[in-house]
Amino acid sequence: MFVRKRPLVKALLIFPLMALPMVGWAKNTAPAGQAASVCAGSVADSGVLLTQATSLIAEVDQQWQDLFSTWMTEMGAYLQASSWPEIHPQARQAKVPVIMYHDVLPRKYVSWDVTPRELEEHFELIKRNGLTPISLAQLMTHLQTGLPLPEKPIVLTFDDGYEGHYTYVFDLMKRYNYPAVFSIYTKGVGVNTGDASAIEQRRGRPHLSWEHLKEMVANPLVEIASHSVTHPLDLRKMTDEQVRRELKDSKETLESKLGISIEYFVYPVGKNDERIRRLVREAGYKGALVMHEDAAEEQLAGESDNLLAVGRWGQSRFREAITKAWGGPPLPKASRTGSFNFNEPIQLKRQTIDRIPLIMASGGRPVTIHAKTRYQVQEILDKYINRKAIAGVAGGFFSLEFLDSNQMIGPVLGQNSGKFIPGRKDDNVFLTNRPLVLIGPRSVKFVPFNHEKHNTLEGIRAEMPDVTDAFVAAAWLVRNGQPQPAEAFGRLFDYNAERHRTFWGISKDRQPNVGVTTEMVDSVRLGKILERAGLQDAVMLDSGASTSLAYRGESLVGYTPRPVPHVVALAPPEAVADCKVANNQSVR
Ligand SMILES: [Zn+2]
Repeated sequence: MFVRKRPLVKALLIFPLMALPMVGWAKNTAPAGQAASVCAGSVADSGVLLTQATSLIAEVDQQWQDLFSTWMTEMGAYLQASSWPEIHPQARQAKVPVIMYHDVLPRKYVSWDVTPRELEEHFELIKRNGLTPISLAQLMTHLQTGLPLPEKPIVLTFDDGYEGHYTYVFDLMKRYNYPAVFSIYTKGVGVNTGDASAIEQRRGRPHLSWEHLKEMVANPLVEIASHSVTHPLDLRKMTDEQVRRELKDSKETLESKLGISIEYFVYPVGKNDERIRRLVREAGYKGALVMHEDAAEEQLAGESDNLLAVGRWGQSRFREAITKAWGGPPLPKASRTGSFNFNEPIQLKRQTIDRIPLIMASGGRPVTIHAKTRYQVQEILDKYINRKAIAGVAGGFFSLEFLDSNQMIGPVLGQNSGKFIPGRKDDNVFLTNRPLVLIGPRSVKFVPFNHEKHNTLEGIRAEMPDVTDAFVAAAWLVRNGQPQPAEAFGRLFDYNAERHRTFWGISKDRQPNVGVTTEMVDSVRLGKILERAGLQDAVMLDSGASTSLAYRGESLVGYTPRPVPHVVALAPPEAVADCKVANNQSVR
């Protein structure tokens, strides 16, 4: 074994130089007169060694690309931060509960007091349920840039600077290594210190001293926010000048006494309005937390108006909050070359944006199938690509003339047949400037259809030399990252009607996506929704009664859709290897 190792290593070193151009050649070449397809090219004959060498290079290259892409993604998030104080659309999808506590002490005097034992139970639940407490600074960065958070984030905040925050909370935080935010009103610091009888005698509650606070801020788990000077019951009832003093003096006192910078404000009793938010902004705060006396109004961080009014949940809803916590979707990966990414596993995602539920599958590589007649989408996937395609939706528009017809409106090239079928002249003229979808082994293009240029194989090859699939879609919903306005739909039938809609497109991270809405929606609103869902380009497919999405052998719409002859599907990258099987079964 040892003896054989060396030549192999040598071969691996020499092969890379030869292997790359050969593989490039194999991928680029298709038999003359036939469109290249997922099932056409194969490198199987090139030998095991070549395969090993190339996969080694691919792996190393992939690692560099991943590293670069992660870095670009995070840098990109900072560069594309929302304009302060707006919340980034990506952060709107996450669900981060910010929990509000008040005093922590062994005996409860009011319903919102929490005992050290109850707090420890909460900390234990955080641990057991896999939540990660994050700092307020981390939350604010996330809200502004959309940068991802841990899977289940939560923020812990303690208001009013009670002594129990030092005696019980600080101790517990250190034990669990959880960060927390303490909001302090400066007039309260050092009041009734250590005097537990104060509560019984109705003289107030023991508060933190400056010494406590100094010891606490020396620990990086502790963040301090200003909670005003005097804790007024309603800032809105004060003059600008009075509010300014509450905001500025508290900030300056905390900064000078504790030697830290104070960047966040917590509204006393949550009271704020546009004027107060403006004054908070003018006083130099980077963000502010609210509270609601009515639990029904409480918001998760991403639901807040903006960074000057970030919502919190009272601790009485702690158990509900921990079931909600979600760090949001990963950032779309930045691409170095703008090249497409057809190598990701296929995943299904259900989400609701602007009250419209979407089911979308992403990943894999796009494939279209033009069947001999009309079937359910899943039947087409079964018959034509042998279940290799994991997800598929109803494709382009077809003639409704004959029940068994597979005549499409406009030209079509299905990857299953590799056969280009021109569109009928009288249909074609109506398709001018609709999106002509072109798919190749490594790319996708949407170009405005021109019936003089695009009704022959040569014509579409002039747009994309290695084209494997083509058809004309109904309309752009999102084009170059822009949701399309009503004018863009021209005279498209029923574009402004509320219908179930089918779509497919390319997301900002360059992966293919297919999907449907499970509620009725008009096309303009759908475009806005899909842009928020992360699509860079999306086109509408046959919708209404044809709307269907099949995923892993199952139809995911709750009705039986109209059978269709054309499907846009996602095939896993590794499907290439089994193409022979697929080809043999494709013609019936
Ligand atoms: Zn308070």
